[in-house]
This record gives sequence, structure tokens and C-alpha cells, in this order.
Amino acid sequence: MVLGHESSGTIVSVGSAVTSVKPGDRVALEPGTPCRRCTPCLSGHYNLCIDMRFAATPPYDGTLTGFWISPEDFCYKLPEHVTLQEGALIEPLAVAVHIVKQAEVKPGQNVVVMGAGPVGLLCCAVAKAFGASKVVAVDIQPARLEFAASFAATHTFIPSRVPAEENAARLLKETGLEGGADAVIDASGAEPSIQTSIHVVRRGGVYVQGGMGKPDITFPIMALCTKEITVKGSFRYGSGDYKLAVEFVSEGKVDVKRLITGTMKFEDAEEAFRDVKAGKGIKVLIAGPNEKSCRCLGGH
Ligand SMILES: [Zn+2]
Repeated sequence: MVLGHESSGTIVSVGSAVTSVKPGDRVALEPGTPCRRCTPCLSGHYNLCIDMRFAATPPYDGTLTGFWISPEDFCYKLPEHVTLQEGALIEPLAVAVHIVKQAEVKPGQNVVVMGAGPVGLLCCAVAKAFGASKVVAVDIQPARLEFAASFAATHTFIPSRVPAEENAARLLKETGLEGGADAVIDASGAEPSIQTSIHVVRRGGVYVQGGMGKPDITFPIMALCTKEITVKGSFRYGSGDYKLAVEFVSEGKVDVKRLITGTMKFEDAEEAFRDVKAGKGIKVLIAGPNEKSCRCLGGH
């Protein structure tokens, strides 16, 4: 199977009915095409389409290839000053946009993000762009938190090996969030993080599950009930998410360039996968087989 779903590219040809893009346009590619006619699609939640054709999700091949066919409305034109490299990172940014929308983050609110991997980092940046006052990044790796603080987080927190309620109490005290956070986003999928999250949310607050880990966990459901917490899932991205992600990058509100820790030629793709597996870097980009050099990726 061909891998790849975080991609950008240059239009080489269009069908006769296409009006919004033309050959030569540089675009970010939204990699899933919904059926547009099932109940979730018709209710405005096409990310939940029951017949989604999503890149690199069997049986559909991914975007790590020379050419890719897409409906025109799933191609998002990049402004002149946005590079193809940034365009490839619109995908994880759109994931973060969707998560933060699910969390209903409003100006002046306080948000805690569990996990400072790529999606957690982008959630911090999007929460800030949505007007959050305090954004707390939580991770067990100090190096990740150092980056998070320089990227978007206003506060950081390293949990210790104690019960979730104790970590939650210390987090709220150290970050001045007594009373709880308005919204907590889990971008880790780790059981202790999820448990801590529920104890960190304020009464009547929102919790969003963005990370995927074990399918079943022990969950503090009593706290959920007595604090009347709203709990939501978040899956991929829906209407308007890609568009907003492109705007955030274009306006300089989210600097996705900082997440790019390397670019590789197509022939060296295997090396890129090995590096990421070994935990080297944040995002390593792979040039398509038709790109002659890094220049064509958009790095002028
Ligand atoms: Zn559908």
C-alpha cells in the first residue's frame, strides 16, 4: 500500500468543469473524500462519512506518490508566501483546529493540552489563536515541553508517578488554575493523562479526546458525572477546518515551519521513516518523486 496523507503539491492538470484551481497552482491536499450523501455527510459532519475514501487507509492508497487525483474542493490554494512544505503541515494543523473547535475554546479561557507531540503542540497554537489566555502543555519529556513553551504554551507541567488526582491538583496549583481548566484536550491517548484530564477540567467544562491509545481504559466516570463535564471525541477534520488552518499559517498565527526538522529526497524515504520511528525530530518531509530538489518543495 502507498503511504502518506499529510501532503501538498502543484496542480498539473484539471478536468473541464474545474474552476477554482488551475495548472501551476500550489495546494494543500485534504486527503479524504467523503461520499457527500450519507447521513453524517448530509448533517455537516463529513469526517464521519460511512463511505470515506481516505488516503493510506485500506483499501485506498496514500499520497506519497508522484501524482494524486483530488476533487477541486479538497484542494486548498496556498498564498504566494506559504511554501509547499508548510502546505504539507496543513493536515496535522487541521486535526488540531478540529479538536480545538470541539473543545469550544473561547477568548480568555484556560486550556490544558495533554501530550506535546505534533498534534498536541498544534492544539496549543490553535487554542492561543482562538484567544485562550493560558495554555498549559503537559508531557513526561522535558525537551518536548521546552519546545512547547517556545512554540505556543504559556505554562508547562511534568506529571509524576502518583495517582491522577494528585497530579491534577499539583497541575492546577502550579499553573494558577485553581477551580479547574475550561477545556482539557488529550492529545496523548495515554490512560494516566486521560484520568488526570478529567480531574483537571472545571465543573461544567469540556474534555476532548484527540489522542488514540488503548481502546479501553479505566475512566473516572464519577468525576465526569458530578462535575457535569462535556466529553467529546474528535476525528480528523470537517467543514472549514482546512480553510482555517491555511489562514492561520498564511497570517503567521501558527508557525508550522518550526515543526519541520528535516526534508528527504523521495529515494531516501525509508530513512525518514526510520528516523521518525527512532523518535528523531518532529516532522520530516519527503519530496515527491517528481520534485527535482528541495527548491521544488517550496523552500526558496
Ligand atoms: Zn458520506
